[in-house]
Amino acid sequence: MSFNVEKIRNDFPILSRMVNDRPLVYLDNGASAQKPQVVIDAITKSYSEEYANVHRGLHFLSNLATDNYESVRGIISKFLNATSDNNIILNSGTTEGINLIAYSWAMPHLKAGDEIILSVMEHHANIIPWHFLRERMGVKLIWVDVDSNGYLDPDRVTEAITARTKLVAITHVSNVLGTIVDVKAITKAAHNLGVAVLVDGSQAAVHMPVDVTDIDCDFYAITGHKLYGPSGSGAIYVKTERMAEMRPFMGGGDMIREVGQELITYNDAPMKFEAGTPAIVEQIGLGVAVDYMMSIGMSNIYAYEKKLCDYARGRLSGLNWLNVQGIPNDKAAIFSFTLNGPAHAHDISTVLDKKGIAVRAGHHCAQPLMEFLGVSSTCRASFAMYNTTSEVDSLVEGLEFCQELFG
Ligand code: PMP
Repeated sequence: MSFNVEKIRNDFPILSRMVNDRPLVYLDNGASAQKPQVVIDAITKSYSEEYANVHRGLHFLSNLATDNYESVRGIISKFLNATSDNNIILNSGTTEGINLIAYSWAMPHLKAGDEIILSVMEHHANIIPWHFLRERMGVKLIWVDVDSNGYLDPDRVTEAITARTKLVAITHVSNVLGTIVDVKAITKAAHNLGVAVLVDGSQAAVHMPVDVTDIDCDFYAITGHKLYGPSGSGAIYVKTERMAEMRPFMGGGDMIREVGQELITYNDAPMKFEAGTPAIVEQIGLGVAVDYMMSIGMSNIYAYEKKLCDYARGRLSGLNWLNVQGIPNDKAAIFSFTLNGPAHAHDISTVLDKKGIAVRAGHHCAQPLMEFLGVSSTCRASFAMYNTTSEVDSLVEGLEFCQELFG
């Protein structure tokens, strides 16, 4: 399918609404993306015609819901180009995915003094679970910086690897700077030294084709609500060898085969890591969202957003009173900035909101990066495939208004 932004915009009902008497300009996609009608319809259909619990009943609706739910594993496997559907653990999103790896793989494998490498631009979801291991087990966290453009040189990661390194946990795309990290090069170097790699794909999978087989990483986490799907949905890809090394950390229904008073045997992976009733309808909605993206084509989405990103970059860099934080060459359309002068990021976002423009202000769950950049907060405009160059112009006009007001 060729890329037609107007047609795509028509698929998202919320984009035609007004906010503060202005047409909505939604530039907070890094926080969560809007949902196309096909996803909204799938949720309604699921609840109104096809709902029951999964994996349990033998009745018609339970079988139907199970089939619909299980088909999502295959859709995500195809989306990420995994070798098998069994490499996909369904969960509530990246936060749960990374915590799962921390408890199920890292805790049984790491000892006091072992090292985990993180970049300074990680989201808290890819920091706090490793801090737990630092606090509870004496694991050491080793931080790798980015340069002044926000670029992460893969060599810096390789140089940080020592005989005690067990894991590199790194984002594919920074949620603050938009930096695209060369996770394939990092994985190759880490594997040469016997180190596993976890990639936080929360921000990447929505903007570009992702091929976990080509990257060769051990773990790749995604989150549904940023992929035009429902919140509470998501998945993590786990390489077969790593899956075999994992011990379940959450126990309950669905993840067992047999339970007695003195005995327990587990279900096969990936079910072994999916205890309890899942977010059935949300995952079904995610499957529809991912199918929708694949029907547009991830390469088409990437090509369109790259042009949009270049346009935004050109327009924003023309504003000499705007400090755009770190602009690496290879980046997704996510821009963080502050104004010269006293205006706080929250003031800017409040003024933009009055003009119908939704951006995010704050530390973006990336406090180590804020400290590294020497700012307490930034304003962030994060674009999606349904945004347009004229919305970039609206943002620039809004910022010019802020500059007149506060500058
Ligand atoms: N990592 C990155 C890079 C993110 O941007 C986010 C979401 N802001 C997360 C992890 C966490 O995702 P979720 O809250 O959906 O689990």
